[in-house]
Amino acid sequence: MDADPEDRDPRARVLAGNLARVRRRIADAARDAGRDPTDITLIAVTKTFPADDARRLVELGVTDLGENRDQEASAKAAELAGTGVRWHFVGRLQRNKVASVASYAGMVHSVDRPELVTALDRAAGREGGLAGGRRLASLVQVNLDPSGPALARSRGGAEVDDVLSIATEIARSAHLRLAGVMAVAPLGAEPDPAFARLAEVARRVRGRHPDATVVSAGMSGDLAAAIRNGATHVRIGTALLGGRHDPVR
Ligand SMILES: *Cc1c(COP(=O)(O)O)cnc(C)c1O
Repeated sequence: MDADPEDRDPRARVLAGNLARVRRRIADAARDAGRDPTDITLIAVTKTFPADDARRLVELGVTDLGENRDQEASAKAAELAGTGVRWHFVGRLQRNKVASVASYAGMVHSVDRPELVTALDRAAGREGGLAGGRRLASLVQVNLDPSGPALARSRGGAEVDDVLSIATEIARSAHLRLAGVMAVAPLGAEPDPAFARLAEVARRVRGRHPDATVVSAGMSGDLAAAIRNGATHVRIGTALLGGRHDPVR
């Protein structure tokens, strides 16, 4: 008799256990918040881990993978071509990388300035070619750090007051679809007040653009706070894959 695939691949067994724990945390947080767990999408952030791990997660049923650097993301997307997995680009976006990102990403979480809207729109248009262009789901990244723009420059994110105008620019773009907002909680601060601010920004954006329903928030350490405050997409790395040695973040 054939051994269970997880017996032949101890790493798959580890990932399966981690995935079950993360799914349970999401379900518990949703239930505590009076929400339906199926309304929350788990994005497994595979940065710094090999494509084999990404593939294992897909084989375990993960449908959405996230990366924060184009070079790594494009290589993994090529390796996993044909699996049907949806790639989320969650890192700082540089203008000279948008063409590459638009070629594999199903959702870009980190649009935080008008120049990026223009560049990404053009890139998404070129991707679609004669088919007339697919509309690339795009989120406005919001800076939630009260210490302001100086810190935001390293982590990304538009100032709260600029979010609506960037959102409207995305909504007007021929090849982009405004899907919602994204944020990272400030380091070393309570996540709930930050995510509550994000929820308020998200409401304001939906007031003008009712289809912009995505709230991408919550990482390994703060997913419950994010779900309490309306997150629809959580981005989980460490709790699924283990610790990393991030060169940059
Ligand atoms: C790395 C990363 C995550 C995942 O963080 P963990 O704490 O490892 O779960 C989520 N979002 C972004 C933008 C990231 O860069």
